[in-house]
Amino acid sequence: MARAEFQSPPGTRDITEPDASRARQLIALFAEEARRAGFGRIEPPMFEDVGVFVRLGEASDVVSKELYAFEDKGGRTIALRPEFTASVCRAFVQHRPLTPWKTWYEGPAFRYDKPQKGRYRQFAQLGVEVIGSDDPDIDTEVIALAHRLLQRVGLTGHTLIINSLGDFADRPGYLSALTDYFEARIGELTDQAKATLAINPLRVLDSKRPGDAAVAEEAPTIIDHLSAEASAAFERVKDGLATLDIPFVVNPRLVRGLDYYTRTTFEFASDSLDSAQNALGGGGRYDGLVEALGGPPEPGVGFSIGVDRVLLASDAEGVFPAPPSSVDVWVVATTDGTDGLGLVHELRSAGIAADRAYDGRSMKAQMKAANRSQAPVAVIVGEDEVSAGTVSVRTMRSAAGSAPGSDAGTPQQFQVDRSKLIETVRSLLS
Ligand code: AMP
Repeated sequence: MARAEFQSPPGTRDITEPDASRARQLIALFAEEARRAGFGRIEPPMFEDVGVFVRLGEASDVVSKELYAFEDKGGRTIALRPEFTASVCRAFVQHRPLTPWKTWYEGPAFRYDKPQKGRYRQFAQLGVEVIGSDDPDIDTEVIALAHRLLQRVGLTGHTLIINSLGDFADRPGYLSALTDYFEARIGELTDQAKATLAINPLRVLDSKRPGDAAVAEEAPTIIDHLSAEASAAFERVKDGLATLDIPFVVNPRLVRGLDYYTRTTFEFASDSLDSAQNALGGGGRYDGLVEALGGPPEPGVGFSIGVDRVLLASDAEGVFPAPPSSVDVWVVATTDGTDGLGLVHELRSAGIAADRAYDGRSMKAQMKAANRSQAPVAVIVGEDEVSAGTVSVRTMRSAAGSAPGSDAGTPQQFQVDRSKLIETVRSLLS
């Protein structure tokens, strides 16, 4: 086949079945869990004034390198959202809802990143944000919600990693200790790490490049520089997770990408994904972001999970199968009239998934299509049925049950009165 003139742009995919339905199923599970936990939904716009995202911190790759930013026809500089937190905080500042404001979201995010398996330029996220309380129990509840979702999906091969980044007041002391340490070993760092060091030494800690990682391994940790309050909050989160039986490990080098993170940070790292993009999701507190967007000094905490990565991990672990894709009934109509058209319509109107072949195919071809469809029931109408005022109903698979009074599981074909069609099909499917 000749190569099509147009391909989907690099880093984007056409998500078709079964993954398209699996993604919807995951989001439906999440919507249910989020609602149970008291979250309402928000659908922010997919693009914002670029400034909204720039507030996330210019030292982060998401802002410095990966933003899809462009000028619109009105001369505004717009960016496609690379994540949701900044949009949710912007919405909070704009609408000033009652606090704590608990919202959940799902939808695409865009990052001009190097495409590879599990890393796309358009990818789907789901997540929550809670704005307006610094109670560490909320951190625990937010982590518990993410944990529960992964549990309901059936994933087991991942680890919850947590850390505390302390308060802003804890930063200067720690950053200078960290900078002194990295400067003493500057010769061992990669050029990228040296550049990052000048902007945000914290980010050198989570460099995945082997040379940097070895140096970061021995760096002083923020945990040793926490204020009494931040330390107590971290203890409270750990106690909370223990109370809820949620296993975790503390990794003092988990910093996460954005400058506004404070106190609790966490990540779910999957063993089933390539190590460079093994994060199923993550989040934490961002007690300075709302204020940076021009709002009151309200704290916030949230997480986001990568939908595509959850599905990849599910494939690797053999969990979260696709929902069945077959219709319930396949209609085979060999008359010249509109019987096929009328039957599928009647079935669909009664809430029964039905499909049929088109183009006036032969009986044989239509029965083949019926088999291929894997529908458990076929409804057949030919001239004989039309003149008798009946339809023939055929059970296609043993799972579909059988005609009343016959051997269970044996494929059967029998005629019923046309007016009994829906009733008969319903009882076969139940
Ligand atoms: P982050 O805001 O970078 O922590 O992203 C949150 C989650 O979104 C990550 O844990 C991933 O699961 C997912 N994610 C981030 N970037 C990408 C990407 N380029 N492609 C696919 N998933 C991504």
